[in-house]
Amino acid sequence: MAHPVIEADECIACGVCVDDCPQGVLELQDVATVTDEDSCIACGVCVESCPAGAITEIAED
Ligand code: SF4
Ligand code: SF4
Repeated sequence: MAHPVIEADECIACGVCVDDCPQGVLELQDVATVTDEDSCIACGVCVESCPAGAITEIAED
């Protein structure tokens, strides 16, 4: 399944990706966390919206 790869060390916990994901895949815990991987449609919105560059890719596995 597709899922975003989040570098926790880079995440500033701004919540932008959580708000921008059209599928509700992400939740802000201590850092952005994938909580509903099955819903990810690999649209790439979270990668583009992260101001910290913490979401490096959409992995397909
Ligand atoms: S790739 Fe799209 S659907 Fe998947 S987590 Fe990012 S914004 Fe959400
Ligand atoms: S947009 Fe980037 S920095 Fe902000 S919560 Fe998401 S992963 Fe973290």
